[in-house]
Parts: sequence; C-alpha cells; structure tokens
Amino acid sequence: MKQTKLTLLDTSDTIYQNLHSLFTTAIPEATMTGILKIEMPEKIIKRHQILAVKMSKKHKTDPQIITHSMFHGTTYNCYDPITKLEAKAELCEDKECAMCGILRKGNKKRKTKNRWWWRKKSGIWSSNDPAYSLNFSLKRHDQHPYIMFVLDVLSPLPGYALEVFNEAATIPKYLLIFEYNSS
Ligand SMILES: [Zn+2]
Repeated sequence: MKQTKLTLLDTSDTIYQNLHSLFTTAIPEATMTGILKIEMPEKIIKRHQILAVKMSKKHKTDPQIITHSMFHGTTYNCYDPITKLEAKAELCEDKECAMCGILRKGNKKRKTKNRWWWRKKSGIWSSNDPAYSLNFSLKRHDQHPYIMFVLDVLSPLPGYALEVFNEAATIPKYLLIFEYNSS
C-alpha cells in the first residue's frame, strides 16, 4: 500500500469499544464521534518494524514489550476526518494541517512546536493518558470535532509521557474524533 488507508470502525468492534471506554473514562466530558483505523503506507510500517526489532534486540526483550499505545492530541486545517472520508477526499497539502501531515508521513520532529526555547531538540510527544493529550487537541477552540491520534510508540520503558527523537519510533494506529464540552 502506497497511500494511507482509513477505515471507520464499527461501534461493535472490540477495538472501538476498548478505546472508547479508555477515552471517555479519562475525559467524561468528551463524546466520541467516530474512530478511524489507520493503515500507513508500507514504507512507513516497515521502518517502524525494523526499528522495533533492532531496539528489542538491544534491550534483550520482545518488540511487544517496548511498544506502547499512546495518545497524541493535535489539530487540522482542512475539514473533519469523517466528512473527509465520506467525501472520499484526499489528504490536504496544507503545511499547517497536522492531521493530514501525520496521516501521510507519520509524526515529524520539526512539526513539534517547542515551548522551551533553551532546548535545541524537540521530539515527538505522547502520553498514555488521553486527558494529558487533550490540551493539544483543544488548541484550536474553533475546531469541531476535535481529534486525537493513538500511536504505537517504541520506548525501552513505558511512561506517562514519552518523548522520542527517532521518527520511526512512532506509528499512527487510530484517529479518535470527538466533541468536547467543558461546561
Ligand atoms: Zn488537512
């Protein structure tokens, strides 16, 4: 597969139910609109798998042990992913559209805006707690619905928040689409 494939998960799907329960337990104010399953282009899957094997050998463990399912909140600049999917629309080319960029090529280091000016390098951040990642989804309050990626992240140790510097260490697996009402 050369292009990313997106599939809307059925609400009866076990993966949908698990993610839905995890997400709404952490963020009770959120209502799930839909979950898209992401199948990245083969080239991107391959480089992730190669790194997983390499890292697991180095740490004398299995690839599953160092693979962590993490949340990554972000925004988009075109239109909401479900409408996009239904319209069979292409991913946009807008450099400001984090969603389409990630869906096309995976997470990129340079796209991460760095709040801490004294740090030279900024990696790819993710958290195992969707409530932590929510702030990044809500960055654009005019945006409805909101989105959050579920990534597989390679790291020798699990963590509440992980920062990785190798782009091949993360791969998008699902896209959560939701509404959020804080009042
Ligand atoms: Zn876009």
